[in-house]
Amino acid sequence: MIYLDHNATTPLDRRVLEAMMPYLENGWGNPSSPYRFGNRSRGAVERARGRIAECAGCAPEEIVFTSCGTESDNLALRGVALALRPKGNHIVTTAIEHHAVLATCRALEAEGFRVTRLPVDADGVVDLGRLERALSPGTILISVMHANNETGVIEPVGEIARLARERGICLHTDAVQTAGKLPQPIGALGADLVSFSGHKIYGPKGSGGLFIRRNTPLRPVLTGGLQENGFRAGTENVAAIVGLAEAYVLAAETAREESGRLRGLRDRLEAGVLSSIPKATVNGAAAGRIPNTTNISFESVDGESVVLGLDLEGICISTGSACSTGEPEPSHVLTAMGLSPKQAQGSVRISLGKSTREQDVDAAVEALARTVVRLRSISSV
Ligand code: PLP
Repeated sequence: MIYLDHNATTPLDRRVLEAMMPYLENGWGNPSSPYRFGNRSRGAVERARGRIAECAGCAPEEIVFTSCGTESDNLALRGVALALRPKGNHIVTTAIEHHAVLATCRALEAEGFRVTRLPVDADGVVDLGRLERALSPGTILISVMHANNETGVIEPVGEIARLARERGICLHTDAVQTAGKLPQPIGALGADLVSFSGHKIYGPKGSGGLFIRRNTPLRPVLTGGLQENGFRAGTENVAAIVGLAEAYVLAAETAREESGRLRGLRDRLEAGVLSSIPKATVNGAAAGRIPNTTNISFESVDGESVVLGLDLEGICISTGSACSTGEPEPSHVLTAMGLSPKQAQGSVRISLGKSTREQDVDAAVEALARTVVRLRSISSV
């Protein structure tokens, strides 16, 4: 199998599994228990927090562990919205966010908040002028993702942070596709809240975290015990937290070098596709992108059929977000970039990772060329 869907998930790194095993086998004490057996688990959680904080360039108490990126997004949006409700009810986000943000915004709208969804340009980048004009005295929160999971396009979070700071507005960024993958520490992005997830960086599924800058107003979403500084009730998943930290450190150590290697492979893949398959377009090509991701539209084919065709050849790619698989609707990200529903439905996402080698990329190009030719010969699209 050639796995080229690393934005959906990644395999567990063996070193991460080894770091987790002691807490699954023997060290299963409750971190909140007062005796030594519990203290050992507490120590493991706090060491993990410290290790992540060091990579993230922040203080350990600014890291809160959650169960996944989705929960981190929920905590950031709902937490700030609930805390700042007396001050205002306006939230600004973009049309291309992950469903974890979009659906939470829809739910908040139903609870009386007003949400502005900013459009993006043809390359998938949010317009800073539009964003600035959307802000009002009642704006309490801006949520703009760091990099898009379908196209890899990077949003200007640093500049947005400046606009937000000048006006005293909280800024959240979903960095699930960049934290530990790009060399820039998440604490240096300028946002007040940053979501990240373990399973995109060879850590365990069901692990995640939220950077919460000191003094950011936030009400907990899960109510119960006082774990995680009162921000997230519930007994900590010690093994997952230890695994998340190990994965984060390993990813951060090689982020610079791995980014360069993946960019070379991604460029080779795109050059191969564009030279061997007519009527193919790379979406977001002119924008800054995370180095492992490409999103390509093929005229007169259905992306889902391309994915299934490649699966028959043992190659895993996707049509977009893993969470949208099976959705009849075309990608909200690609249509926001101006693609027609038909063009959006003729698109696939290929995301490379640690195991990807030149021969995998070349095999994918050949399989894509064969599949697209075959599909076009029988196409009714
Ligand atoms: N945000 C983005 C940008 C993602 O790509 C994903 C996962 O695909 C998530 C959030 C959700 O993360 P998790 O699967 O850890 O809930």
